[in-house]
Amino acid sequence: MISLIAFDLDGTLAESKQPLKDTMGEALADLLAVANVAVISGGDWPQFQKQVASRLPARADLKKLWLMPTTGTKLYTHKGSDWQVVYAELFSDDEKTKILEAFDASLEATGFKPEKTWGERIEDRGSQITFSALGQEAPIAEKEHWDPDFAKRKVIQADLRTRLPELSINMGGATSIDITQKGVDKAYGLKKLRDASGIPLEQMMFIGDAIFPGGNDYPAKELGLETVRVKDPDGTLAAIAGIVACLK
Ligand SMILES: [Mg+2]
Repeated sequence: MISLIAFDLDGTLAESKQPLKDTMGEALADLLAVANVAVISGGDWPQFQKQVASRLPARADLKKLWLMPTTGTKLYTHKGSDWQVVYAELFSDDEKTKILEAFDASLEATGFKPEKTWGERIEDRGSQITFSALGQEAPIAEKEHWDPDFAKRKVIQADLRTRLPELSINMGGATSIDITQKGVDKAYGLKKLRDASGIPLEQMMFIGDAIFPGGNDYPAKELGLETVRVKDPDGTLAAIAGIVACLK
């Protein structure tokens, strides 16, 4: 018997970085009436608040909703009238300093210092540090032609790996590099959810748009969960309607 449905966010519940549509908010409220629901994604809490928490109708049973920013290194649940942190695995100040110094040294050593940048280049998400080569506010057109084939970032990544061998260093969006503790992926987040909720993995189902080898939802399948691969949020709406009909 399935008692918890876990979802990826971008490309699954919403378009990339966009708020849930009203129809999705209503569908999740229907689902929360019959099951626990979790959302797990690489974005940080402010992004979850904007995309998910603020988009659910008043009737949604928030007690059964588990929100897992930064790939499950943080967990938020709704207690009383507010969202509260259950846990957050943060880098220590020493680790952070070391990471920032490594970035500086790496850019210097590899020579990939762009002439122009837009906004902050380093985003500290507590348990994940994200480097955006051109800055977080860089125009999409600039981002698209900076490193379309990952060639520059592969060089920076290789250099960073020698400086920070104990951490996980991966290429993210168009210009970014993410640094996390080793072993952090959606399978890691789902195991943390099992421990925090007491719901066994056999009772969880995972729905995402990147359930294929190399996709960031694939670890959920490798962990042995029942999975449903969707193409887009419309596919997710159809899947939710089917699950609600079965569980009700
Ligand atoms: Mg996705």
